[in-house]
Amino acid sequence: MAYVIAEPCIGTKDSACVDVCPVDCIHPRKDEPAFEAEKQLYINPDECIDCGACVPVCPVTAIFALEDLPDKWTSFTPVNADWFKTKKA
Ligand code: SF4
Repeated sequence: MAYVIAEPCIGTKDSACVDVCPVDCIHPRKDEPAFEAEKQLYINPDECIDCGACVPVCPVTAIFALEDLPDKWTSFTPVNADWFKTKKA
């Protein structure tokens, strides 16, 4: 399992989650070149340790455990994973 960032992050990109993630698996960070162009932030499912620290700090409630992800946002699961395949590979 991994946590997933969904639609509310689009246009928000608050980054509070980035600051609390203990394994630095949320990208792009503000200091990364891709930050400005990206619509939202993404969680690397291969690195996320399911700690849940990012959930309460998100001001727009965009982050969910996979089992809690609302049905309307299930498409964001591959959206998060695919970003790391295409942008970070
Ligand atoms: Fe990072 Fe924990 Fe959130 Fe996973 S659940 S993205 S490890 S803060």
